[in-house]
Amino acid sequence: MRKFKADIVYTLSSSPIENGLVVTDDNGTILQVKQYESEENVEVLQGAICPGFVNTHCHLELSYLQNKLCEKKGLHEFIKEIEALKQPASAEIEEAINTAYQKMYANGIVAVGDICNTNDTLNVKLKSQIYFHNFVEVFAFHPDRAEAAFAKGKKVYDTFIENKLNASIVPHAPYSVSDKLWKLITDLATENNSILSIHNQENEDENLLFTQAKGKILERLKSFGIDTSFWKSKGINSLQYVLQFLPQHLKSLLVHNTFTTENDIENALKTHANLWWCFCPNANLYIENKLPNYSVFKKQLNRLTVGTDSLASNHDLCVLSELKIIAKHAAIFSTQDLLQIACANGARFLGIEKQFGTIEIGKKPGLVLLKNLEQNNISQQSTAQRLV
Ligand SMILES: [Zn+2]
Repeated sequence: MRKFKADIVYTLSSSPIENGLVVTDDNGTILQVKQYESEENVEVLQGAICPGFVNTHCHLELSYLQNKLCEKKGLHEFIKEIEALKQPASAEIEEAINTAYQKMYANGIVAVGDICNTNDTLNVKLKSQIYFHNFVEVFAFHPDRAEAAFAKGKKVYDTFIENKLNASIVPHAPYSVSDKLWKLITDLATENNSILSIHNQENEDENLLFTQAKGKILERLKSFGIDTSFWKSKGINSLQYVLQFLPQHLKSLLVHNTFTTENDIENALKTHANLWWCFCPNANLYIENKLPNYSVFKKQLNRLTVGTDSLASNHDLCVLSELKIIAKHAAIFSTQDLLQIACANGARFLGIEKQFGTIEIGKKPGLVLLKNLEQNNISQQSTAQRLV
């Protein structure tokens, strides 16, 4: 049994408890959470305790790309640079995955929605203490490539399933999935009642492609030798187009949302009540040097989550460092809100809220110590460290 006393405990299932006490068994299951009175054998900590973090958008398999790509040059240059890089040996890829996994564990991440194009992360996940949901990503701009792209993804998906790991096949982005590929994805998702995830409005050109059939995305696809001649303007933006395909009853996570407007959100919610939103601020700064307008998402507080994206576009896989960027740029969120985004909401999206997301008796959510707070709130100097 372990007893932790901290200046404040953010349970996320109640108001924060000042001078709080959390008691766990040896496996980390919560036995008691309350205000400290006079218990003995207590580990006295300075700072706040919160539940383990849920990182809803990561690409662990890309960890070998850390510090390999230039910053702030825009998504087009970023993708071109990735395409031009030579893949290292598999031992190097696996070592980078392992190192990144250890870091996520140490800084308090307990569950991850992980985008996969390969099974490179399988070995780490088989012995993982972090919960993973594998979003196997498929893409093919040209409809003639739909079946081959889906079959490739299905193979990766089947391997995860055979190994008893959670997985679903998901679309990469609005601009990289043909109508035909969408049908294959959503048929399987509907059959399995899966959760879905898609990169959304990460870049201005995405909307331009759909509203006017113009912009850098078409140029890039052509430069890769892809036939784009069939593409016509859809007269609606990328999010509106995607919503025609996303099954309304399934939970769908829209990732990035850098160019999403208040109007986009309101319109989307008219047909899709089950939308969730993920912010990846460090990756947004790394690639596009532009952040979403967080204030337009305030009403969606219960559906907001946070992701680290990959080490290709981030210096660390640390949920707290994402929260710091949001706190710096959006004063609308309190520390309690930010932690709800980072813990409870992500757990609900992944469907693992019975174990994760809040500090409640009987759950095993992991515990994180937040240090260097300012009046019990997250500051730019705050640090996170896993307790349990
Ligand atoms: Zn991503």
